[in-house]
Amino acid sequence: MADIDDWLANLRRLCSKATPRPWMQDTVGFRVYRTDHSLARIALAGTSDDAAFIAAAREAVPRLLDMVEELQHDWNRLLEHIRDAASAADPAFTEQFDPWEYLRRITAEMIPARDHEIARLKAQTQAADKLADVVTHQQRCGTSACSNGDLCVPCSTAMEAALRAYEEVKK
Ligand SMILES: [Zn+2]
Repeated sequence: MADIDDWLANLRRLCSKATPRPWMQDTVGFRVYRTDHSLARIALAGTSDDAAFIAAAREAVPRLLDMVEELQHDWNRLLEHIRDAASAADPAFTEQFDPWEYLRRITAEMIPARDHEIARLKAQTQAADKLADVVTHQQRCGTSACSNGDLCVPCSTAMEAALRAYEEVKK
């Protein structure tokens, strides 16, 4: 990380010492010059592609450095959040905290809990569907008991079993 920081700082230095932007490639294509009133010549390149690259790099390098800085800032904030969450939730939290190890561990803990919840909801849905089937069946049963708004023995047995199963998975 220190190597990268040194490298980035050096690029910043190079940017600040170079002739201020903007730089442009001339119409012939080989020359790069500064596009203010000075029209100072920056470089005479070997090819027009190289001249285009030199002119573009003068814009691109400082912008990319800014982007890297922003991303580093965002990453540090995210890391801070993870650290806060870990120190609040984890009794084994220490300052030698590894965010990746922590994220891997809580993910590993979350997967069985998620699978359990999915299975529970699936069973609950199935039991609710089964109960709805029994109700539909009873409405079309046609026995005198069921037609009179009561329940015939088979419907009553099915209804009780379905209700029991539903109550069981709702827990
Ligand atoms: Zn019935």
